[in-house]
Amino acid sequence: MMSEHKMSTASPHVLPPLPYADDALAPVISAQTITFHYGKHHKGYVDTLNKLVAGTEFAGLPLEKIIADTAAKADKTAIFNNAAQAWNHTFYWRSLRPKGGGEPPAVLKPKIEAAFGSVDACKKELSTAALAQFGSGWVWLVLDGGKLAVVKTGNAAVPMTTGGTPLLCIDVWEHAYYLDYQNRRADYVSAVLDTLINWTFAAENLD
Ligand code: MN
Repeated sequence: MMSEHKMSTASPHVLPPLPYADDALAPVISAQTITFHYGKHHKGYVDTLNKLVAGTEFAGLPLEKIIADTAAKADKTAIFNNAAQAWNHTFYWRSLRPKGGGEPPAVLKPKIEAAFGSVDACKKELSTAALAQFGSGWVWLVLDGGKLAVVKTGNAAVPMTTGGTPLLCIDVWEHAYYLDYQNRRADYVSAVLDTLINWTFAAENLD
């Protein structure tokens, strides 16, 4: 499943460009947050991954293959963490867009209603999962067995290794919101879901 994903990148891994300007998500997510989050955190995962895989059997492999091959292997934790975080952040940037939120596209909305009852109920479930995630991690809308579901993962973990195709994600590491919201994770997630979430990207990932 992962090897077929559209986001595969060649090695050495490169930091993909942001899909919008660093101030395009303000005021919900400030340019300062994006500058650090993308330019320091995301870049750091990519750079560290390149150092870790150099000269190993993982050199030259696509990101998704590295993630699949190192998941749940105790002696490969550092490579997994950096590969997964490189992938997760690229997916996160694309899960947001300026003037997002609103109504999901017609191809997605009935699936949301079938799984959750309504778009608002889906957003509520995403918010609840975000608050329930203890410490750092991610909240995901996934397609699993033909049905949509909300899952949360800790630290760098990804849904693909346990089943489920990611449709969109929200980063709930403190670095994603602390400059703008301090400890108020609920306010960050609520604002993201109302005004930035990219339902169109989620719909594209149904394919
Ligand atoms: Mn992050």
